[in-house]
Amino acid sequence: MGSQRVYNFSAGPSMLPLEVLERAGNEIANYQGSGMSVMEMSHRSKVFQKIFDDTKANFIRLFHVPDNYKVLFLQGGASSQFSMVPLNLIGKTGKADYAVTGNFANIAYKEAKKYGEISLAASSEDKNHTYIPRQDQLKLDPQASYFYYCANNTIYGTEWQYVPDTGDVPIVCDMSSDFLSRPVDVSKYGIIFGGAQKNLAPAGLTIAVVREDLAGHELPFTPLMMNYKTMIDKDSMYNTPPCWCIYMLGLVLEWLDSEGGVEGMEKIKHSKAALLYDALDNSRLFTCPAQPGSRSDMNVTFRSASGELDAKFVQEAAAAGFTNLKGHRNVGGMRASIYNAMPVEGVEKLADFIREFDKNN
Ligand SMILES: *Cc1c(COP(=O)(O)O)cnc(C)c1O
Repeated sequence: MGSQRVYNFSAGPSMLPLEVLERAGNEIANYQGSGMSVMEMSHRSKVFQKIFDDTKANFIRLFHVPDNYKVLFLQGGASSQFSMVPLNLIGKTGKADYAVTGNFANIAYKEAKKYGEISLAASSEDKNHTYIPRQDQLKLDPQASYFYYCANNTIYGTEWQYVPDTGDVPIVCDMSSDFLSRPVDVSKYGIIFGGAQKNLAPAGLTIAVVREDLAGHELPFTPLMMNYKTMIDKDSMYNTPPCWCIYMLGLVLEWLDSEGGVEGMEKIKHSKAALLYDALDNSRLFTCPAQPGSRSDMNVTFRSASGELDAKFVQEAAAAGFTNLKGHRNVGGMRASIYNAMPVEGVEKLADFIREFDKNN
C-alpha cells in the first residue's frame, strides 16, 4: 500500500505516519465491530465518546498538560484563534502585546487590533523575519492582558528557542507548526493553540489548551462558538466536533507514544534538521535565510542564487520523489517541512540529493 509514496515535504497539510493511514484504512468502513465508519457515528454515541475520551487523555498525558488547563477540540483552524484569543482575553485591561515574527503572527496582530489596544512587543520585519528577537528586545507592558507569539514561523523557517519571560502576563502561543515536536512546560503559558494539519492530524481540527481561569471573561459580543467557556462547559461538544479528525489525532498520538512521545520527537527533531542545515551550509549553491540561533527544526528554508536554479532544484527533486519543496511566495526559494511524521530516512535522502545537486550544478 505504501510502496509508491513520496517523501512529502509539504508545509501543511502534511505527511501522516504510514501506519496511522493504514490503520485508518483498515477501520474505515467498520470501526472495531461497530458496523459503521467513525465518519458515520453520532458524536453522542458510546463508541465515539470512548474515542474522544481516550484521545483527550492521551493528549493530556503526552503533552504533560497540568490539571488547571482544559484541552479543547475546536474547528475554524488556527486562524479562528486569532479572533478567539482577543475576544476572550482582552477584556481584562483592554491591552495586549504581540511579537510579530512572521506571517501568521502578523495576521493575529492585525486581527486583535479590532478588539483593543495592541502593542508591538517586537517585530522581525526589518530583516524579513529571518530572526527571533531576544528577551531583552521585547517591549513588555505589565498591564497587558496577555503576550502573544508564534512558536514556529512556518513560512520564514524560524523558531523561538526560548519561552519569553513576561512576569505575571499570561502567554498565548500559536504552536501550529511545532505542536508536540518537543516537551513544553505548559504551566508557563495561558493558552497554547494550533491547527492539527501540520504535525498531528488531518485539517479540520484545532486544538486549544486553555488555563481554566482565563475563560469566562469574554467580551459581551463574543459569538457563542468563539467563547472558550462554552466549549469548556460542554467538553468541546457544544455542537458536532470534527469527529474524524479527533479519531485520526488519537491514532497519531498512539504512534507518537510508541516513538517515545514528545521527548522522542525532540531527540530526532534536532538531528533531522541538522542533516539539512549541514548539507546546505557546506554547499556552494545554497544559503539559508534564517539566522543561526533562530533556525526552525520544522521548516528549513533555503535558496540558490537564482530563481531558475531554484525551479530546477524543485523540479528535479520532485522527479526523484521529494515533493512540495517550493518555498512560500513571500520568501521564494525552497522550504523543506520536516514535521514529526517525516522519517529520518526521508531527510537523509534529501540531504544526499542536495549534495548531489550542489556538485552537478
Ligand atoms: C498553518 C498555520 C496557521 C494557519 O492555520 P489554519 O488552520 O489554516 O487556520 C497559523 N499559524 C501557523 C503557525 C501556521 O503554521
